[in-house]
Amino acid sequence: MATKEPIITLSAGPVAAYPGVMRALSRPIEYDYDRHFLELYEAVNRKVTQALRSATPALILHCEPAPGLEAAAASLIGPDDVVLNLASGVYGKGFGYWSARYNKELLEIEVPYNEAIDPASVEAAFRKRPDIKIVSVVHHDTPSGTINPVKEIGQIVRKHNALMLVDAVSSWAGMDIHPEESCSDVFVTGPGKCLGGAPGLTIMAVSDRAWKHMEANPKAPRASILSLLDWKEAWRHDKPFPFTPSVAEVNGLDGAIDLYLAEGPEAVWKRHALTAQACRAGIKAMGLSLWAAREEIASPTCTAVRVPDGIKDSDILAASRALYGVVFSSGRGETQGKLIRIGHMGPVAEPIYAVVAVTALGGALRKLGRKTDVGAGVAAATAVIDQARA
Ligand SMILES: *Cc1c(COP(=O)(O)O)cnc(C)c1O
Repeated sequence: MATKEPIITLSAGPVAAYPGVMRALSRPIEYDYDRHFLELYEAVNRKVTQALRSATPALILHCEPAPGLEAAAASLIGPDDVVLNLASGVYGKGFGYWSARYNKELLEIEVPYNEAIDPASVEAAFRKRPDIKIVSVVHHDTPSGTINPVKEIGQIVRKHNALMLVDAVSSWAGMDIHPEESCSDVFVTGPGKCLGGAPGLTIMAVSDRAWKHMEANPKAPRASILSLLDWKEAWRHDKPFPFTPSVAEVNGLDGAIDLYLAEGPEAVWKRHALTAQACRAGIKAMGLSLWAAREEIASPTCTAVRVPDGIKDSDILAASRALYGVVFSSGRGETQGKLIRIGHMGPVAEPIYAVVAVTALGGALRKLGRKTDVGAGVAAATAVIDQARA
């Protein structure tokens, strides 16, 4: 192979997995109906339920979260459902295309992709259209690095007796977001982002209300990769699997969830938030702009930086990779070319990686001819860390 391995991966997902996850992934592949694996599968489900703080048993789907979200749309949204899709970024907009395949009518609130959804606009939509049955929203729209106020939106949706579907793939396990307190009825996430696992599974929490809605949906898929109902009871060791689960991925998830629970969720969120805060301080000290319209909506799990005028995003990524072996993410879809993204997820959600990111980004820009005070960036980032840990 011509290309050397990266030294440090600071992407927005998939992310570097913890060494403990890599060890778990290397456990033997067992027969899925061996008692040992059946018991492991149930134990992993129980731990995931605990980590989700969910009132109903967690659901594991054996595909990555993008098809997992498609499955959620196919299973939940029926031909009588009016759906309100909230789009503040590429993933939010994308969910509307899946919804439109199944729903009766698609309504949409769309805001600029450096902004967040205003809960008052959701309330106004319900006043105009009390027949809205399902609201879909992305918590952290990763290609923008921005956070939506899902807890506030959830209360409005619940008050109007509708169901809320939340994509929390790149925020759950990196900050305080859970299905119950956000009033989510279908809460979709995965191990390949803030949990620091591999990207091959979907994790969900489905409320009893949402299960009822799916069971009443005449078009809900069965015997299909898009079926949630097929897997509803599969967490129990005495129930059959619809098809062979991804044994290695389940082992990896077991390792990741053990690490998360052992460290303590609050401690994990805290280091994600501090890493992002230090990173933002360093970025601003180098005279660069955050992509988010306001710093309050900038994600604690990913920092999106506006590409300075006259420089190409791909040149920045290439310079960082060539000079330092540090990998960042580009934008996606509509944000492609406008920003670069620094991931703070899983093992790299450690403040020292904010210093790495600021150094590599600043150094790359200097190399490309932009006057950049890398030292000022490093000083600002370390000052945030030192103050937090004083
Ligand atoms: C990563 C991610 C997904 C899942 O995408 P995959 O291609 O399956 O990894 C879904 N939603 C958001 C917001 C994400 O960040």
